[in-house]
Amino acid sequence: MEQGFTMNQALAEASRCLLCHDAPCAAGCPASTAPDVFIRKLRFRNIKGAAKVIKERNIMGGACAVVCPTHALCAQGCTAAGLDKPIRIGELQRFIVQYAWDVGFQPLKAGQPNGVQVAIVGAGPAGLTCAAELAKAGFGAVVFEKRSAAGGMLQWGIPNHRMSREFFAHELEDIRSLGVEFRFNTPVETQADVDKLRADGFAAVFVATGAWRCTTLDVEHREGSGLEDSMSFLVRAKDQPDAVRKELTGAEVLVVGGGDTAMDAAVSAKRAGARDVSIVYRRSFQEMPGSPEEKQAALDAGVHFVILTQPVDYVIADSKITGARVVRTRLTTEDASGRRRPENLPDTEHVLAADLIIEAIGLSPDPSVRKLDALTIGDGERIVVSEGQRASTDLPLYAGGDAVSGASIVVKAVRDGKAAAEAIRKELGR
Ligand SMILES: Cc1cc2nc3c(=O)[nH]c(=O)nc-3n(C[C@H](O)[C@H](O)[C@H](O)COP(=O)(O)OP(=O)(O)OC[C@H]3O[C@@H](n4cnc5c(N)ncnc54)[C@H](O)[C@@H]3O)c2cc1C
Ligand code: SF4
Repeated sequence: MEQGFTMNQALAEASRCLLCHDAPCAAGCPASTAPDVFIRKLRFRNIKGAAKVIKERNIMGGACAVVCPTHALCAQGCTAAGLDKPIRIGELQRFIVQYAWDVGFQPLKAGQPNGVQVAIVGAGPAGLTCAAELAKAGFGAVVFEKRSAAGGMLQWGIPNHRMSREFFAHELEDIRSLGVEFRFNTPVETQADVDKLRADGFAAVFVATGAWRCTTLDVEHREGSGLEDSMSFLVRAKDQPDAVRKELTGAEVLVVGGGDTAMDAAVSAKRAGARDVSIVYRRSFQEMPGSPEEKQAALDAGVHFVILTQPVDYVIADSKITGARVVRTRLTTEDASGRRRPENLPDTEHVLAADLIIEAIGLSPDPSVRKLDALTIGDGERIVVSEGQRASTDLPLYAGGDAVSGASIVVKAVRDGKAAAEAIRKELGR
């Protein structure tokens, strides 16, 4: 993980802020983290005050500081960009949160217990935020998580070189210190599981199970070793770095896809020692959905980009996938997303050899949420909610994060967790 700002760097950066009256940065933050307020406090060297502002409004303020695509959020409308370049809001936020951790400053306290218990399903940013907000309001918040640790994609998906588990452990400690309880290795998957939670005395349930289902390429030959989905690879790279390094040293890796997950998988493979890592993408470099920072990080890591190229099948020898059969494409008319459609070019088929192919072509909510019959499931397996993240008219059942929006970003999961906690507080608070 890259070094954060030093005190002098942070103060110098904060001094560039123009202290705008209308603060476009604040309007650009989905979680209402109030960058205008915390930057002002930092300028006057009230760093604990700045940390209090961040953590009160966004319990995931440390993680957001590192992973938020600020160019499209708080920094997008930054007035300082008119004179020079936008204020580096994420880096300032990280400095402030890290300072609070370093000096042992904990600005948050659990509320007076109100005797109401709420179950949260899924310990990703949406679930953790909802749990923390409820604990601050005096609710008993119990998080049921099917994996062995908390954090969701922050723990298992986002690679260590971008945000280390050691850094994130501080954020989890802030949440635990509010009295939030965790039950790991405990999935909640069926309506019977939810009914049991209610029978056990939980007055409301917040479902935040994320979007972990990987889309696969529809090709004829895919049964063999040497093909892996992006999440399986990224989890392995975090959990078993030595084994992945041993496997990939000197290897040739293809990553199919052009989003941020593809970039993370490609850079992780390269850092694990792969000789050549190539991203294979059917449109142009410009049309790749990955953020500019992530694409640049992949270029900096030495990842190759094989653009305007589409896999049409995989090549198998002795039950092992040894490469991708690809064709060249050209771009035609625009589709609904405003990007030009790729069309396969005849007589261009060729094989790209690979020791490992990673598919990173999309993530969606797991269809297993369909088993909760009180929920309405909409397009793309997304849970349908109404105002206040309410997911059922009959039961106090709420939902948020990627399970509702489809694969999105951390700060929007935080926004949903806050909204659900606020609605639960209004409905059930005493
Ligand atoms: C590789 C990668 C890189 C990313 N990079 C960025 C980035 O740079 N910036 C950014 O803002 N966002 C990024 N994201 C997206 C971001 O991580 C997600 O939008 C965010 O984590 C969604 O939060 P969530 O709480 O909705 O779900 P998740 O983080 O997915 O958490 C859901 C949790 O629910 C658990 N769960 C699932 N089903 C059950 C069940 N039945 N019972 C109990 N528990 C269950 C899961 O194990 C998981 O812990 C990235 C995502 C990926 C995959
Ligand atoms: S939480 Fe993210 S979007 Fe909001 S101010 Fe902080 S870095 Fe910007």
